[in-house]
Amino acid sequence: MDRRSLIKKGAVAAGALIAAKSAGSTTRAYAGEKKFRWRMVTSWPPAFPILQTGVERFAKRVGELTGGRLTIQVYAGGELVPALGVFDAVSSGSVQCGHSAAYYWAGKCNAAQWFTSIPFGLDAQGMNAWFYFGNGLKLWEEVYSNFNLVPRPAGNTGVQMGGWFNKKIEKMSDFKGLKMRIPGIGGKVISKAGGAVTLLPAGEIYTSLERGVIDATEWIGPFHDIRMGFYKVAKYYYGPGWHEPGSTLELIINKKAYDELPKEIKAAVDTAAAELNVQMLSEFETKNAMALKDLQKNKKIKILRFPDNVLEGLRRLSEETIAEIAKKDAMSKKVNDDFQGFKKQLSAWNRLTEKAYYDFML
Ligand code: CA
Repeated sequence: MDRRSLIKKGAVAAGALIAAKSAGSTTRAYAGEKKFRWRMVTSWPPAFPILQTGVERFAKRVGELTGGRLTIQVYAGGELVPALGVFDAVSSGSVQCGHSAAYYWAGKCNAAQWFTSIPFGLDAQGMNAWFYFGNGLKLWEEVYSNFNLVPRPAGNTGVQMGGWFNKKIEKMSDFKGLKMRIPGIGGKVISKAGGAVTLLPAGEIYTSLERGVIDATEWIGPFHDIRMGFYKVAKYYYGPGWHEPGSTLELIINKKAYDELPKEIKAAVDTAAAELNVQMLSEFETKNAMALKDLQKNKKIKILRFPDNVLEGLRRLSEETIAEIAKKDAMSKKVNDDFQGFKKQLSAWNRLTEKAYYDFML
């Protein structure tokens, strides 16, 4: 056999080998191609824009990326479990995954709060830097492993608004006696400032503001706030949302369900979560900017920025409050130390770049 025919035969043989291999692997892939069907619960009302609609897009995307090997059926808050039952449902494995916000679980897990947002904490870009290239996600995984959960950042509201007020805020003493609906650490700060903080369910905020049961409320940003109608019953709309500068939404997956997935399906879930993380922030930014324009046309509403002395006062009280919360357990201290260290480092860089740029871009 001459060299030429050897090469030719070799090529044929190699070609046959490849064909056989791919046929074999295809057969094997189909035979072993387990299909997964997951149920997903969320904390959002049915069809709630940006949040619930984003989650539905995520579920569809996972189906596309896995060629239908993982399908996710999404249930809005209250459809399968209550809006704030997401954590327990996923942790116990009664459903495989959920979408919510970590700070809702502060009562079960104090350290969870840093993974959504803390007053005067990181903005969306900073949160993502901390999660993906700092220790943020590693710490979040460590905290949630005690609850059989795997977390992934999956959306961000961007900097929220400070809220709707019927009293002008010009100095810290204006918070004294102010009846405000504001949850979380922000609420603790307003209490420290002398405010009377109440926690009202979403459906009662409008009438409470209208009837003077409360003087102020925070919500999210212009896009969602307009839907709540607050501009009809409040005089002032204050920014920025110092208490929620970059609220991260979470995808939580039951650890056993996640571990059962083949690595390529795990990668598809992680990829779709990262995509949702970017898309949700982008949708918030675009729709809030458009909604703000609508509000600016409304002559009745005064859109104001909190004065510097008020933001400085709130920051001082926030630092005190966060230090107290971080002392509650070793894990919270560990997360807060890492978060604050990262923030300090990032701030030095961002003062020279983002901040300096924004001051002249705007
Ligand atoms: Ca809020």
